[in-house]
Amino acid sequence: MGTRRALVTGGTRGIGAATVIALIEAGDEVIVTGRSPSAQVPQGCRYLTCDLADPKALREFSRIVEGLEISVLINNAGINKIGAISEYDVDDFNRIQHVNVTAPFVLCKAAIPSMQRRQFGRIVNITSIFSVVSKPGRSAYSASKSGLLGLTRALALEVAADNILINCVAPGIVDTELTHSVLGDKGIAELRSLVPMGRLATSDEIAKYIRFLASEENTYMTGQNLVVDGGFTCA
Ligand code: NAP
Repeated sequence: MGTRRALVTGGTRGIGAATVIALIEAGDEVIVTGRSPSAQVPQGCRYLTCDLADPKALREFSRIVEGLEISVLINNAGINKIGAISEYDVDDFNRIQHVNVTAPFVLCKAAIPSMQRRQFGRIVNITSIFSVVSKPGRSAYSASKSGLLGLTRALALEVAADNILINCVAPGIVDTELTHSVLGDKGIAELRSLVPMGRLATSDEIAKYIRFLASEENTYMTGQNLVVDGGFTCA
């Protein structure tokens, strides 16, 4: 196969930015999305703006994606807000579902027809260990990441015969802005103590697994949730 076109949502920082670099290194042409009208992306990347929390913007963006003929889709953009259900705002719950599940669904729907025409596609949805285990205060986030896993399994079945393989990568605790803003130093220290490897993951480490699942090296794995957590969920 020649140069593949890949789309990475939320590619401006954290796991997404590391994935963009990993895919460029693998020879892909990469399109990056983020919210801000201008963002720093690696040279040669096309940058597209979309606030995935906005239903109208998502609809418009999906029409653009339909025409992009992408071979690789990385649904990485995601948000989190921790809180007990008694204080949790339903609007926050819905926003988290919209960014973390609805947007991946809409973008898969937009990308799959051209993948079917070309009989090739790799989709990687970024879930979390909170798709397989949970903690108090994670109802919205866990619901969204478990939902994304369910979406992945069902869609993988629909398109398996078209050589479109759809998987999840479920990172543990990763050293990114999201982690620092959601957990703070105290929360990070507490969670780190639960990681058998005794440290957070780096975004680069997670990106290697995403790159593998998105690659042509992955020929037979679909519908799975690859947990990359330093042993967290084994304890
Ligand atoms: P991050 O550092 O906060 O980066 C999030 C990315 O998503 C940014 O590029 C951001 O772009 C984009 N984004 C956020 N809200 C968006 C919106 N409404 N519309 C469009 N783009 C939006 O996050 P991260 O830690 O790298 O996390 C990436 C993914 O991994 C998420 O799905 C997260 O749930 C998952 N994950 C993270 C961890 C962790 O420990 N960090 C663990 C497990 C799973 P702009 O700000 O430029 O708009």
